[in-house]
Amino acid sequence: RAFRDFNIDEDIKQNLIKCGYTEPTPIQKQAVPIMLQGRQMLACAPTGSGKTAAFLVPIIQELKGPQKQGFRALILCPTRELANQSQRECMKLSEGRGFRIHTISKIKKALTQYGPKSSKKYDILITTPNRLCYLLKQDPPAIQLSNVEWLIIDEADKLFEDGTRSFRDQMKEILVACDNSNKKIAMFSATYTPIVAKWCVHNMKGLVRVTV
Ligand code: AMP
Repeated sequence: RAFRDFNIDEDIKQNLIKCGYTEPTPIQKQAVPIMLQGRQMLACAPTGSGKTAAFLVPIIQELKGPQKQGFRALILCPTRELANQSQRECMKLSEGRGFRIHTISKIKKALTQYGPKSSKKYDILITTPNRLCYLLKQDPPAIQLSNVEWLIIDEADKLFEDGTRSFRDQMKEILVACDNSNKKIAMFSATYTPIVAKWCVHNMKGLVRVTV
């Protein structure tokens, strides 16, 4: 299966070529069609396997409809550095689509930027759970997530690994905020861990598992 066989628009195929991606990696071959079908997925794929493009390509393809308030896709990463890296890749892969891709780089500015009084429309938010939950904890919440269609959890094993309940508690808050009945979740983890698998079984109906 090559990129040209993917059910994605020509501009995305061109952007993949511009990035120097000629052939899909194994995780991309498996994950892209599953996500394009709108199915929830747990993918075990190590760093360096091309997992970022594996979840970005279907998101970029699917965010075609009319924009609504708040964000339409949310990507959670363990670190700000990783969020910035994924934002750069997202900008390249979505070039020409005019998407607004944010990372919450300045938390004080974010308090006014995304709050309930803001009628601005955004496309993709790539950030850490800590930053996001800080905005959600404001009264009223300083960010609107009820139009999120895709929620991606990247490097889930790192996010869950601290052994405390903190990330699981944050995820409860985030899921309440993403109260869109059509919302889908895709989880990427470098290793298979029972905590991650258990969370997916509890929270992701019709889950498909993929390992590379
Ligand atoms: P990731 O696993 O997402 O961190 O990606 C690892 C590296 O592989 C990044 O530098 C990507 O730019 C690169 N990459 C992703 N997909 C492809 C592809 N299909 N062909 C060649 N390189 C790729």
